[in-house]
Amino acid sequence: MPRPTRKTLRRLLRRIDGFIFPPLCIVCDTPRPDNDRWLCTSCNSTLCALVINRDGCPRCSQNRAFRTCACDVAWDHPFSRIRSFVDYNDTTRSIMHQIKYQGKRGLAEYVGRLCGSHADMAEYANSIVVPIPLHWQRLWKRGYNQAEWFARGLFAGVPGITLTTGILKRVKSTRTQTKLDRSERRSNLSGAFRIAATGAATINGKRVILVDDVITTGATTAAATAVLLENGCRDVQVMSFARD
Ligand SMILES: [Zn+2]
Ligand SMILES: [Zn+2]
Repeated sequence: MPRPTRKTLRRLLRRIDGFIFPPLCIVCDTPRPDNDRWLCTSCNSTLCALVINRDGCPRCSQNRAFRTCACDVAWDHPFSRIRSFVDYNDTTRSIMHQIKYQGKRGLAEYVGRLCGSHADMAEYANSIVVPIPLHWQRLWKRGYNQAEWFARGLFAGVPGITLTTGILKRVKSTRTQTKLDRSERRSNLSGAFRIAATGAATINGKRVILVDDVITTGATTAAATAVLLENGCRDVQVMSFARD
């Protein structure tokens, strides 16, 4: 009888481990199918339904089932459009919490793929994709940028994508925005972003897709957009997983 190799032993140990400690759904804690999928079948269907059934305004992405937007008469953002895939609710809040505070970067990529698979992404072919950067101190603490991992999943099947993390820099460590009003958010973000020395040549005359995990007032993406436009970018569109 041939001796088991290290590889077969490792595979066997993983199976035993999976049998004793089955992977759990990150939303409801019931067993889930495998390690590549983060949600149980039921929560996965819930998330798919949220993406498919959301009636977002094509310009400002407000959910028209809950709010009447006025973006056709009052648009004061420097970017031309927002596209978000889900609203904040219990399911998406748990997902966001796991992504941001529990180290689950793979989950950000997974939900990105899921959103992309339910959307017509063909119009974004050959785009320059820029995830909203974190300040280096926050990046160092978290170990990854969740917006970048969401963008990786979202644009995975789109041809000609340049996903770049070197063009836009976050040079100011800003306070958390949640308790600030609109004008406080603006001053908090003033001077927060700049373009890297070699970045302007890449974006000159081009359309950029800015990607964030969640959009609330749009103040962060507006500050980043202003810097991109000042440096020769032709048009900026915003995409996010969630819309608050
Ligand atoms: Zn679940
Ligand atoms: Zn609108």
